[in-house]
Amino acid sequence: MAETALLEIENLHAWYGASHILHGISLHVNEGEVVALVGRNGAGKTTTLRAMMGLMPKAEGRVRFAGTELLPLRAHQRYHLGLAYVPEERRIVPGLSVRENLRLGLVAAGSGIEEQAAIDEIAETFPRLKERLDQEGVTLSGGEQQMLAIARALIAKPRMILLDEPSEGIMPVLVEEMGMLFRRLRDEGRTLLLVEQNVEWALRLADRAVIIDQGEVVHQSSAAALLADKDIQERYCAV
Ligand code: ATP
Repeated sequence: MAETALLEIENLHAWYGASHILHGISLHVNEGEVVALVGRNGAGKTTTLRAMMGLMPKAEGRVRFAGTELLPLRAHQRYHLGLAYVPEERRIVPGLSVRENLRLGLVAAGSGIEEQAAIDEIAETFPRLKERLDQEGVTLSGGEQQMLAIARALIAKPRMILLDEPSEGIMPVLVEEMGMLFRRLRDEGRTLLLVEQNVEWALRLADRAVIIDQGEVVHQSSAAALLADKDIQERYCAV
């Protein structure tokens, strides 16, 4: 295979207390690829991302990112490797401006990137944030806060970004803007793993699709093939 896997997950198991949630997930994401991770509510998508980021009480298996084994590392060390995570709950820090929230993205990545230049550059990509740099982050609309969370993940130019349901609860015009942003990132060769309930939207953005059901991978194909296969979508992705 000519492509190189930037991320390789092999036989990943995860637990909340006695509840065994992931039952041996295996998947990979190649450098420069956008992969949609879909499946119905409670299938284990968020748990997969959390296990990758070191946020599960117990996880076993192998998760290799850029050749480094992630599971033994602390959460912050994973960010330092160039892996960024945008959780579903966004975590915009109250009391901090948009600019200060963006700065946290640089701190989390431990990057030596010059701050003002990085903020100027990211503000060009996110015009809505550019107009609001000095506004308190939590006073933005829900969709704008999601954009801020994504900008904060992108600012340190990570090698890969994990996104958990970025389109959830966001007005259609912003979902459309987000779609254009992800297409642009894909065209720039960024690597994305996108968890989504908005399956059609995600499949139109992605190169490949992986379906999880009850903590197991049940389907992998090109995004276009899954988009055309309403039966499989109905069987595993219907809410
Ligand atoms: P959703 O879109 O609903 O978030 P998901 O595919 O992301 O779906 P997960 O959040 O990974 O699903 O949840 C997988 C399973 O883990 C579910 O059965 C859920 O009830 C359980 N679970 C999630 N969080 C916890 C927790 N903190 N403690 C115990 N069980 C949990």
